[in-house]
Amino acid sequence: MNHTHLLSDTIKSLSESATIKMAQMARDLKSQGHQVISLSLGEPDFDTPLHIKEAAQKALDEGYTKYTPVPGLLEFRQAISEKFKRDNDLDYGVDQIVVSNGAKQCIANVCMVLCNPEDEVLILTPFWVSYGEIVKMTGAKPILLKAGIEDDYKVKAEALKKAITPKTKLIIFSSPCNPTGSVYNREELKAMADVINEHPEVMVISDEIYEYINFKSKHVSIGAFDNVKDQTITVNGMSKGFAMTGWRLGYLGAPKWVAKACSKLQGQFTSGATAFGQMAAAHALKSSLQHTYEMVEAFKSRRDLVIRMLKEIPGVNINQPDGAFYVFPDISSFFGKTDGQFTINNADDFAELLLTKAHVAVVTGSAFGADECIRISYAASEEDLTEACERMKKCLAAFA
Ligand code: PMP
Ligand code: GLU
Repeated sequence: MNHTHLLSDTIKSLSESATIKMAQMARDLKSQGHQVISLSLGEPDFDTPLHIKEAAQKALDEGYTKYTPVPGLLEFRQAISEKFKRDNDLDYGVDQIVVSNGAKQCIANVCMVLCNPEDEVLILTPFWVSYGEIVKMTGAKPILLKAGIEDDYKVKAEALKKAITPKTKLIIFSSPCNPTGSVYNREELKAMADVINEHPEVMVISDEIYEYINFKSKHVSIGAFDNVKDQTITVNGMSKGFAMTGWRLGYLGAPKWVAKACSKLQGQFTSGATAFGQMAAAHALKSSLQHTYEMVEAFKSRRDLVIRMLKEIPGVNINQPDGAFYVFPDISSFFGKTDGQFTINNADDFAELLLTKAHVAVVTGSAFGADECIRISYAASEEDLTEACERMKKCLAAFA
């Protein structure tokens, strides 16, 4: 008997995460014996550095097996506070920091504590899949503010200025950006800060989870501009820079009133994050970033490889992103093309074609608010990336 009609309107109105769905489809095809190369999930293919695992083991041995304070162990929050100062020129005291089960939960916490149904949330687009759905869960309205490949997918401050209305409560963006890899530079962030500062009741979530994966420059945090520090929530986490996706540890720095509200919400929802994981993460933040830099070097040469190979495919329009581990080519020139059997009408079809015919899993741009694009994660071996690009080229030749 089908009881799905009993589900709440909220869950019925939500889309499934496209990145997670595509990764699962790739796993399913693989388990049926197909040689699938999955470039769908945004996850470092490296293992967590050994010294971090050892710190977790030590914490377990020392008895870090109990509930922690809801906003996180003091040792971890102290390490985060020092990290914010050291890397980002941000002054967040321990009472302004909340640790959660991943940056995803940090973002959900902030949206839940700030948004009312009548509010609008401006999302710089292309955006990471979950922003829109999290905002919808609060009842607020996501407003997509989009930039195209001709602007390296970066929204200009003038466009932001025009888009803010009396209903705007929150702005969300990531830099380095998932899905585009774009990095907003100091001047661009300063211009955005000046616009936001003109609207003191508008808050901003700066999602900096790809902070370290920046090939060109030192990371800049928008919250470091004095005129918007009281409006900014800086979100970060262990998943990407330390290859710790499965540890589920994220954190935020925020004005005290926001941090306190997030802690209150989390206290009713999930409580504090895993105790021994927090101790290991504190150790990671305090230790040398050597492993991170090695990973970043590998990502950079993979980016160059993928861009070189994709540029050889007629019809694929690609820019050069400066960070994260994604490329986001515009593939709209294929729309309307057919090989006689399959017609590509949109990016969903394009991703489906690559999965079923070339056995390469990518994510449709429509999940990120850009239905002329696809996202390719290059957090995979050079061998797999080379093979995947060759397969794509071969598959797409039939649609020239
Ligand atoms: N923000 C962005 C931009 C991401 O790509 C991710 C990746 N999942 C997250 C937040 C969430 O990261 P996590 O929950 O693993 O810390
Ligand atoms: N953030 C990653 C991605 O975009 C992991 C999957 C997810 O959490 O959505 O692929």
